[in-house]
Formats: sequence, C-alpha cells, structure tokens
Amino acid sequence: MKIDGRCHCGYITYEADIDPDNNLICHCTDCQTLSGSAFRVVTHTREDGFRLLSGELKIYVKTAESGNKRPQSFCPECGTPIYATAVGAGPKVYAIRVGSIRQRDQIVPLAQIWSRSVGSMQKFEKQLQIDQTGPATST
Ligand SMILES: [Zn+2]
Ligand SMILES: [Zn+2]
Repeated sequence: MKIDGRCHCGYITYEADIDPDNNLICHCTDCQTLSGSAFRVVTHTREDGFRLLSGELKIYVKTAESGNKRPQSFCPECGTPIYATAVGAGPKVYAIRVGSIRQRDQIVPLAQIWSRSVGSMQKFEKQLQIDQTGPATST
C-alpha cells in the first residue's frame, strides 16, 4: 500500500510503501514517553520503501531496556515522530509512526504489544454506553 505523510508543521514530507497487514500498537514505556501518549501505533516499511520528500530529519538514538539501540527520527521544527529503525548495516525496517500518515484511517492495528504497561482495562466493541447517572466520557 502506498502512503504519504507529513509532520505537523509541514517541514517534513515523505511517502512510503507499507504492508497494511503489519501494523501494531505498542504500549511500552519508551513509546509512551516518546509519543507523549498512552501508546504508539506503528506500521512497517523497508529502508528502500521510504522516501523523504522534504526537510531533514533529526535523530535521537534511544537505548532500550535490552541494550538495543533504536534511532528515532523526528521533525526538528515541531517534534512530530516520523519513524524508528535499527543501527548498523541494512537492509533495515522502518517503523513509521502512523499518526503522521495521511491515510491513517485505513491503517488498522492488528496486534498490541507490551500491554503489561496498560493493566487491566475494559475493552468495548463500540461506543461506551453511558447511563443517566454515569460520568460524561465523550471524546
Ligand atoms: Zn514539523
Ligand atoms: Zn514501544
């Protein structure tokens, strides 16, 4: 599947070929901190399937609990995370941050990893039903 994306300020634009069956939600604490959210949604492409169209990415190399080093690319102007990859020789896989993809409504996560960081949370098929006395929880 061909996708294109951009950071929030528009300095970074890119396009990529992704496998639409290889999307996931990661709840690890690194993704929580780096995304500023409770979880991160990623999809994957090969190094040669990613084309930077404008801008120059800034890279932060994080060291994981396992000692693994993962370069994190983001916009130097607005901080939008774009992708993460591996260090060393290729061919590499790029884990693209789905929030920056224009077609993100078509990219459905198929798995959740590191969910131990989530605890026991109820899941709902559809909208949460709120009774008259319950809290207002609309998003
Ligand atoms: Zn930007
Ligand atoms: Zn993670």
